[in-house]
Amino acid sequence: MPNPAVSYPSHQMATERSYYELLGVERDASDADIKRAFRKLAQQWHPDVNTETEAVERFKEINEAYQVLSDPKRRQVYDMVGKAGLGDMGGAGSPFGEGFGGFGDLFDAFFAGMGGNQPGARRNRRQSGSDLRYDLRISFDEAVRGIEKEIEFDLLDKCGTCAGSGATPGSVPQTCAACAGRGEVRSVRQTILGQMVNVTACTRCNGEGRVIDSPCRACKGDGRLSRRKKIRVTVPAGIDEGHQIRLSGEGEAGPRGGPTGNLYVAVHVTPHPLLRRDGTEIYFDLQLSIVQAALGTRLRIPTIEGDEDLEIRPGTQPGTEIRLRSRGVPHLRRSGVRGDLHVLAHVNVPTKLSKRQRQLLEELAAESGEVVLGAGFLDRMKDALE
Ligand SMILES: [Zn+2]
Ligand SMILES: [Zn+2]
Repeated sequence: MPNPAVSYPSHQMATERSYYELLGVERDASDADIKRAFRKLAQQWHPDVNTETEAVERFKEINEAYQVLSDPKRRQVYDMVGKAGLGDMGGAGSPFGEGFGGFGDLFDAFFAGMGGNQPGARRNRRQSGSDLRYDLRISFDEAVRGIEKEIEFDLLDKCGTCAGSGATPGSVPQTCAACAGRGEVRSVRQTILGQMVNVTACTRCNGEGRVIDSPCRACKGDGRLSRRKKIRVTVPAGIDEGHQIRLSGEGEAGPRGGPTGNLYVAVHVTPHPLLRRDGTEIYFDLQLSIVQAALGTRLRIPTIEGDEDLEIRPGTQPGTEIRLRSRGVPHLRRSGVRGDLHVLAHVNVPTKLSKRQRQLLEELAAESGEVVLGAGFLDRMKDALE
């Protein structure tokens, strides 16, 4: 099967973190959770107050994630098919451009809960496992009808010996003494925007809040081991080239019990030899002779359901579109809704005629009182060129 599994090591995938990971919230986070997480991160990474070189990029990412997750419609699309599904709805705009959710959000981000340490909001910065990407090639028909596929790939999965903790069985990771398990060190400073709390990760425990004294031997304290994984992927009917299916929590395990990454199945669709697809619409170019167009005919045409007869009315003009309603591709998110099959009529004028065919056409011209070039025309042309 030409379905190579591609998984990227952590350092490469770092830039492809999911919107949920960027905001540090769970997939089922409420709107309030998302807003709170955004405010907190915006306070931390806003380029006006954070002079670290990565701040601009980080703030942009956080903002993009918030633009999508704070909008129920966009969030739903993102959940179903990932970033690709957002198309031009994606939130890659500038942090201060139209992408930003108005001055209100920016204001809120800076002044609400300023310097406050919201009770219970504190969480250790446990490193998440990487998101993984799997490239899946399917046929045109499979994309149209939907299909279930089994895929297999290698990944870093939870170590069975230590159950992912990274500590020797029987021992437990100890609370970091340097940060008292908080995983972060805070400093307060004055800026033009008022008092800002700067939060940096604890260097002793790398922000995890815990240190492991006796590491698990099987995984050398990482909490993960490489293994081959097999899962079934449901490809929904109507999926298209470039779409991604997001499988939450099916990616790489986080080190030392950190959150698991997601698996993104990138779908590639082999085109149909005769039918063209544009979203939910299907197009077929139908070739007719002038006689078929004039007199009407019945022809076999390919459709999603297989070949079938199509009646062409007498007097069909070049460029005529015959639209077969609801014979296109199922809509990905609106069940029961399908696009149309568009049959486009092309009328071909013959370039070569037998003697008899020419004679019949000349008779037709005479019948209609039309002046045409006579039978001897081609011969005369030849003579003139010689
Ligand atoms: Zn282990
Ligand atoms: Zn620490």
